[in-house]
Amino acid sequence: MTDEAERKMQFLYALRSRGVTDARVLSAMEKIDRRAFVKGLFAERAYEDMPLPIACGQTISQPSIVGLMTQALQINPRDKVLEVGTGAGYQAVILAQLARRVYTLDRYRRLVVAARAVIEELGIPNVTAITADGSFGLPEQAPFDRILVTAAAEDAPSPLLAQLRVGGIMVLPVGQSDAVQSLIRVTRHETGYEYEELRAVRFVPLVEGVGED
Ligand code: SAH
Repeated sequence: MTDEAERKMQFLYALRSRGVTDARVLSAMEKIDRRAFVKGLFAERAYEDMPLPIACGQTISQPSIVGLMTQALQINPRDKVLEVGTGAGYQAVILAQLARRVYTLDRYRRLVVAARAVIEELGIPNVTAITADGSFGLPEQAPFDRILVTAAAEDAPSPLLAQLRVGGIMVLPVGQSDAVQSLIRVTRHETGYEYEELRAVRFVPLVEGVGED
């Protein structure tokens, strides 16, 4: 086996051993090469189950966390999904393998431009990346069947709760930015919102406003 093939096998093994068991999620993560999203110095480490630095002081999430969040969303093929926190675009492209349409927002234009370039290079037709403060969601495309937030807020932002369709699911980390946060799943019912705590996680903070870069 080549080194590359061996690294990819270990990558998938790490996902499974950390609880990513959904066959559709695993096959999306097998198909989409994380290396395409990790530039420069850290490219060598793209198949390690670790978050890695990207531009603007942000990070590309740890693959097993990407897998667990995607799995927790229980995406259906017809779903319209909103992601807050494009970062490198990796999570958005994984979501796009499972959903009909993905809108992804980041407060840094520079990250959005770079993510768009990778999305185009990979020929992914159903992801739209937009520079915006994601705490306000994307009212013109609401409601969403699924919402994923990949930066931690103290609480679920109310515009995002409002933009979730009845029957929809949102997954997000909540808690103080410098402490351990909880990944939670919010399901919207006719009568209100149901909250479940999934696991402890650590994400960069959700920051208000659009960035300078
Ligand atoms: N999902 C990404 C990792 C995201 S890191 C990936 O797969 O690579 C979190 C991202 O959230 C950062 O890029 C940061 O700029 C962004 N972010 C933080 N606050 C935000 C806000 N209010 N609106 C939009 N994006 C935000």
